[in-house]
Amino acid sequence: MDKDALKKIISHSKEYGFIFPSSEIYEGLNAIYDYAHNGVLLKNNIREYWWKSMIQLNENIVGIDSAIFMHPKTWVASGHVDAFNDPLIDNKDSKKRYRADVLIEEYIEKLNSKVQKEISKAEKRFKEKFDKKQFTETNPRVLEITKSIEDVKGKMILAFENDDLPAVKKLIDDLEIKCPISGTCNWTEVRQFNLMFNTKLGASEDSSMDLYLRPETAQGIFLNYLSIQKTSRMKIPFGIAQTGKAFRNEIVARQFIFRMREFEQMEMQFFIQPGTQEDCFNQWKKKRLDWHLNLGIKPNSFRYHDHDKLAHYADAACDIEFLFPFGFRELEGIHSRTDFDLKSHEKLSGKKIQYFDPVLDKNYTPYVVETSIGLDRMFLAILSNSLKNEILKDGSSRTVMSIPRPLAPNKLAFLPLLKKDGLPEYTRKIMRDFIHDINIVYDEKDAIGRRYRRQDAIGTPYCITIDHQTIEDDTFTIRDRDSMEQRRIKLSELKTIVDSELILKSLLKKLDN
Ligand code: ATP
Repeated sequence: MDKDALKKIISHSKEYGFIFPSSEIYEGLNAIYDYAHNGVLLKNNIREYWWKSMIQLNENIVGIDSAIFMHPKTWVASGHVDAFNDPLIDNKDSKKRYRADVLIEEYIEKLNSKVQKEISKAEKRFKEKFDKKQFTETNPRVLEITKSIEDVKGKMILAFENDDLPAVKKLIDDLEIKCPISGTCNWTEVRQFNLMFNTKLGASEDSSMDLYLRPETAQGIFLNYLSIQKTSRMKIPFGIAQTGKAFRNEIVARQFIFRMREFEQMEMQFFIQPGTQEDCFNQWKKKRLDWHLNLGIKPNSFRYHDHDKLAHYADAACDIEFLFPFGFRELEGIHSRTDFDLKSHEKLSGKKIQYFDPVLDKNYTPYVVETSIGLDRMFLAILSNSLKNEILKDGSSRTVMSIPRPLAPNKLAFLPLLKKDGLPEYTRKIMRDFIHDINIVYDEKDAIGRRYRRQDAIGTPYCITIDHQTIEDDTFTIRDRDSMEQRRIKLSELKTIVDSELILKSLLKKLDN
């Protein structure tokens, strides 16, 4: 993978109006970003793809938009006040701060890559005779590394389960994990750090109430689930979906919009009968991966990662990981959350929030399977997959963003060949046929080749060039962003292309098949 890929994404995003660092004239704010015109169009399209695939394609999923501020007891019941901590550790030489669990996980990842290397080497040596299963089960080197992986994982899980921070520190020392900046093992002790931002509600000092900015959108769904179930006349199993901002005071906020302090989540909580969670969890694992693959992204860019270390509320958890420029990382989480949240809210509020099941003729607290994805992380996944620098046949190069077509910020660019002879006016007349359905752009500046390049760089799937012949017979040249092929088509044909390839419906239809 290109070592500078992330840097290129960051500078491209800024240059072409996708993402800007926030408050830049005041030196910016770490891990806070603003979306510019093309960015907000792309972000809205991703959100809409998620929202419609949940709400429109499923009769039994309904929506909500709950407030960011919630009663502070919410976060006591959910466990966030006590347990929404990350274990932090500082390197005394570089003064850099790290998440202790991430340092250990990265160490394990390195061991995993060593295993992969041994496998690739053997694959090359033995060619078609290669038996991967036999090799991994018998090769002494692979066995030795796999044993180390299991050993480290075991110690890490035990230390975190027992909340034993000195044991976490000892593991980092024993493994001689080095700070990537200073290269030393000169670490502080491991400490817990709560990730919630707090603020105050109300004006006067004594009557004001301490509040938190929500660290996840899910709790708004839990507190409202029964009213929503009743008012939308849902029966279990049913889901509630929500998109909205979440806030986390992340210890290490690097890697652009991968880890932000203010970000947006798209979460869906599916309420089910206790005992059915395993099936439901597996179904949503598959459904969510299908949603990603439906975008035409290569399947080997994704992998499942089942959790060894479970959160306090979960009985199973799996991440869908994506191959970002810095390696495979979590893009989305699917969690079997049991009845932990609903039971805790019931206990702390003293209010009965059980579901009456008309089929079983009894009350119970539903179990919950959730799917939770960061909109900004999905945005980064799309950028990582789309941004390419291509060397063309004539030796020149171009930068192109092959964004999945229905998600592209602008679907069509209309380019009058000349700025005279009535071509701009005619172009604008044709554009009127499209502006109610899709986002389009008009560009008359510079030579046509440069205008094509500008559209390639922001991912516009098609450029439409209007020339003198257009005025005579309503045909124009259409140029494809990815193949760069050009052909002459009629206006009616363009409408078919829009319907079949460029609007969100085309993507949703494929998903629904
Ligand atoms: P991580 O292990 O990366 O911190 P997490 O397991 O805490 O993530 P969840 O609480 O499961 O994440 O949140 C669900 C989704 O929200 C994640 O899969 C991710 O896409 C997104 N997300 C979480 N934290 C951030 C963040 N700081 N910035 C951007 N997106 C985030």
